[in-house]
Amino acid sequence: MTISRRDMLKTTGAAAALSAGVLTEPALAQGEPPPVKWTHQADVVVVGSGATGIPAAIVAREAGCSVIIIETQPHIGGHAICSGGNVPLGGGTSRQKKYGIVDSPDLLFRDLTDWSVVEPNGFPDYRYNDRELIRAFADHNVAAFDFLVAHGVVFIDRPPDARGGNSVGNSVPRENHCAVMDWPMVQTGAPAEGMRKTTSSGNGLMRPLAAAARRAGVQMLLEHRMTHLFRERPFAGRVYGIAAEFRGAPVTIGARKAVILGTGGSSSNVNFRRMFNPQLTEEYCGIAGQPWSDQDASGERAGLAVGASLWGLYNQTGEFGYNITKPGTIGSQYGYRNLQWMPGSPVFDKARATGLKVANWQNLILVNMIGSRFYDETAGQYPANDYHSIEPYIQDSYLNAKHNQWNPSLFLDAAMAGIGDGHNGGGPIWAIFDADAAAREQWDPKPPHVDGEHGFFFAAGSLAELASRIEMKYQRVKMPPEALEATVTRYNGFVETGVDADFGKPKPLYPVTKPPFYAAWATPVLHDTRAGLRINAKGQVIDMAGEIISGLYAGGECAGGFSQHGLARAICQGYIAGRNAAREIPHRA
Ligand SMILES: Cc1cc2nc3c(=O)[nH]c(=O)nc-3n(C[C@H](O)[C@H](O)[C@H](O)COP(=O)(O)OP(=O)(O)OC[C@H]3O[C@@H](n4cnc5c(N)ncnc54)[C@H](O)[C@@H]3O)c2cc1C
Repeated sequence: MTISRRDMLKTTGAAAALSAGVLTEPALAQGEPPPVKWTHQADVVVVGSGATGIPAAIVAREAGCSVIIIETQPHIGGHAICSGGNVPLGGGTSRQKKYGIVDSPDLLFRDLTDWSVVEPNGFPDYRYNDRELIRAFADHNVAAFDFLVAHGVVFIDRPPDARGGNSVGNSVPRENHCAVMDWPMVQTGAPAEGMRKTTSSGNGLMRPLAAAARRAGVQMLLEHRMTHLFRERPFAGRVYGIAAEFRGAPVTIGARKAVILGTGGSSSNVNFRRMFNPQLTEEYCGIAGQPWSDQDASGERAGLAVGASLWGLYNQTGEFGYNITKPGTIGSQYGYRNLQWMPGSPVFDKARATGLKVANWQNLILVNMIGSRFYDETAGQYPANDYHSIEPYIQDSYLNAKHNQWNPSLFLDAAMAGIGDGHNGGGPIWAIFDADAAAREQWDPKPPHVDGEHGFFFAAGSLAELASRIEMKYQRVKMPPEALEATVTRYNGFVETGVDADFGKPKPLYPVTKPPFYAAWATPVLHDTRAGLRINAKGQVIDMAGEIISGLYAGGECAGGFSQHGLARAICQGYIAGRNAAREIPHRA
């Protein structure tokens, strides 16, 4: 049977190839891929150089494959290099054994499938995890840990703990911390002088891994953005390469064995992320990990275009840990609490400001677009679930929910409630403070600390003038000057009486009275993604009919079915995908 040229063009890959001028045949027998003159070719093509991609590439290369990584940014590392380098690998690692912590793959598996564990807001961390994926993860933790050590990652020498953990199981501590050593940090452009062995950092994870990949002979193509996958037929047959762009020019890369997607999640893609939560409209533009790298759902979209299924969507719609976060710095677009961009950073030109780190939330009030307070500014959000979050913890016991202290999202739910105007998102949140507060916090509210040029910071001699100055693309309505004045007057009254009659801020301490007055961007930050493409235990991508898409693998944040924050999931799934991709029978393309 033959397929027509028209049918052929229904394949996204084929259409991309035609637009790139590389399709040479109008019609082909089913099962035969369209002939493409590849710009590059390798056994295994890995998309993304983050926590999934680099381990996958090293493993496949060391199994004897030729490997190309393509990375859309001019630098490697993805969110992983910006991360805190806290890696929750357990299951009986050598580090756990050294410190007398008894763990096993079975204990880890049961922890990560424990239906009874809920976060302080009642959302279950593990209930909707895919057991097949958790089993594979649990069975590969020790190997993944050893792999990291063997490829140059130095873990800080102390017992595994719970620091930085988020849905990593409640029975025993599993967090290991990557020492930054002498690697330059993306945040500052410089090494962490004097604290090289004690600073936990994603730079200490990704720099040695990238060096190991290069040493092993992995080819890295930077500034290459995957746009599509090539599959033999629209929703059938094998995936055998990718289309990409390099500085605006089309590039095609053939994969004799497999393509591995390690593109990260979907937090930067407004339309995609709104499939999970319609509230996440465009004003949530302070994505953790940006501007080093975006997570624009490239992998998910390319997979869906060739028939892949999404998986475990509850894990993304549920409210977990720090997926959405109260900012830690204000006055700049990127305010994630654990990531401050400094002027020496290679991406400081894109970050544009360091932001003002808030030491004491008594020094400001938070208002919405129309100048109203909505919250006790000193309160945080609920903490993530981890070892010791539930005391006592009894695996699989309904009593666990009883032992958890109820504490819903507070800041986030209140900030995202909006102004009742029918818009889905809550709109900008502004921190309002005065000259005295700036002095108390030792802030210098000027560039490079704040970003006034792009509308993330404003200053004025009076509150009315401040309100009228607030104009930026996400401020959908003007802030009424009299509303801001009324809010501040009322709040100053609370400072006099010592009682916040509106939101119960414990003993409001400082009035907002001394000009100049300031408005600094303090809108919630989006963090990671916990749902994406459906994969199986080998990392193979699965289609809507439950069938394997031959030649296509995925892992990390672009894959679904596993509700856990971060690095361990990505590293392990990259490791698994790399091993299995290397075992594929080569395609003849
Ligand atoms: C500030 C911060 C701190 C964190 N701290 C921790 C922590 O301490 N512990 C923890 O466990 N987790 C932490 N995380 C989460 C963790 O870093 C991520 O979950 C992890 O890096 C995800 O791995 P990944 O491979 O899925 O994506 P990433 O590491 O983000 O890598 C994806 C890569 O793919 C590239 N890419 C995307 N699309 C394309 C395309 N179309 N073509 C080519 N390349 C593409 C991206 O540019 C990027 O380099 C942190 C995250 C952030 C942002």
